[in-house]
Amino acid sequence: MTRMAWAQPEYATAQIAVWWDMKGCPIPEGYDARRIRPNMEAAFRKLGYSGPVSITAYGDQTQTPCHLLRGLSSIGVSIAHTKPESTCSLMYSDMLEWRAQNPPPATMMLISDKVKDVFDWDLARLQQRTKYNFFVATPSRHISCLALYASEWLWGRILEPNVALVQDMSSESSELSAMFYCKSCKSCSFNGRSLTGFRKHLSSKKHAVREAVKYAYGDLDPETRTWGKNYAATPEYATAQIAVWWEMIDCPIPEGYDARQVRPSLEAAFKKLGYSGPVSITAYGDLEQAPDHLVRGLSSTGVALAHAIPEVIYMRMNDDFRKWHMHNPPPATTMFITDSVDVYFNNSLVRNLQRKKYNLFLAYSYRPHKMSVLLTSAEWLWESLLAGACLPTNRQQDMFQRQEDPSFASAVKGSLDDLMEHLSSDKKHALGVSIVCIITTLFHLSNNLFNLFPSLSSRSVLFSRLVEKTSTIDMNR
Ligand SMILES: [Zn+2]
Repeated sequence: MTRMAWAQPEYATAQIAVWWDMKGCPIPEGYDARRIRPNMEAAFRKLGYSGPVSITAYGDQTQTPCHLLRGLSSIGVSIAHTKPESTCSLMYSDMLEWRAQNPPPATMMLISDKVKDVFDWDLARLQQRTKYNFFVATPSRHISCLALYASEWLWGRILEPNVALVQDMSSESSELSAMFYCKSCKSCSFNGRSLTGFRKHLSSKKHAVREAVKYAYGDLDPETRTWGKNYAATPEYATAQIAVWWEMIDCPIPEGYDARQVRPSLEAAFKKLGYSGPVSITAYGDLEQAPDHLVRGLSSTGVALAHAIPEVIYMRMNDDFRKWHMHNPPPATTMFITDSVDVYFNNSLVRNLQRKKYNLFLAYSYRPHKMSVLLTSAEWLWESLLAGACLPTNRQQDMFQRQEDPSFASAVKGSLDDLMEHLSSDKKHALGVSIVCIITTLFHLSNNLFNLFPSLSSRSVLFSRLVEKTSTIDMNR
């Protein structure tokens, strides 16, 4: 086992549905197929899961020996015949159908050698909308998926004889629960409980003709492919807070726009979708290079400013987001304004959104060429988001400034004047920036760091701590 987690109370007795690709994870030569269910159930029980388990085995069943089919059906494993090229897509459409009929809490398990390559993207998006507990079993060691799974097994380890084989396993009840399906025939698929009838069907001329004319779906049909609209707020998020993380390098204020338009533009776009919760905005950029009117314009409308040089900007945003999400449980909406969300935020963010159900907005300067694995409730082009907004009145500006949460701008602790003075005159600031640059260069160049901290997350944590340390020394002197 490479990863395991004890059952959360809501899943301990909930049902477990298993979809098993018999070609990618085959039954070894000489193995007694009747061991499979008791071994799986024993593995689940070890982690505190005792709910009913349904298993469906997919593959080209004309190639599966009769004694294996009999063994599997005797322990209540359903058998589905599929053409090899369409096994994944049929497993997935069955999983989607099951999800539609079985609301959480429940556990789903995939046994396949293609979890990462085929299923991962759509599953990670589905899990951000409706979360099920998720297990995987694969033929090889640890797979790094975007879909968050609670436990991962090596297929070979599940097959090890952990429990004694009960000879009278082919009880009446388990025989009754096992079904045989032919999913390869066009229009009239076979389904029944008799192995003899199933084998007769697979060897019939009728099956051969129907299978030959049925189109084999090689690729998955991603359920979430069409989930790319701007949706109206659901009640739980309508008045919840909205935290905006704005990276001003990719998405600067366009020529001719007044910085004071940013907040009213965002709030107007949110209101249009029914979001009226308090909005906090932090703008990240190199404030030494920013014109004074821009900095003052943002500050006067309650936009918190975080000075960060380009080399550390995403680390700083990630770090601030991490701290924010520890103290702000859902329901809440987070928004990222950047072209780099898929490059710098993807892995941690997609897992966060599966763990905790935050709403997500994105804005970018150009539309990405492929759909993000991050599930969004609304997306905008940055310039179109800013278009058409009016300047705030003096009264609104006063209100914005009162609304600003000083704890939010963790990268800039102090007033705007303090910050500007610090940036323009303080030698220590220049020294701090130099140190950050050196650390960044070392971070990128040193192979030793990779050897010392092989995982990306541990390197990121180390790096952000170094940066935090440096900027704290710098700001506090
Ligand atoms: Zn058939």
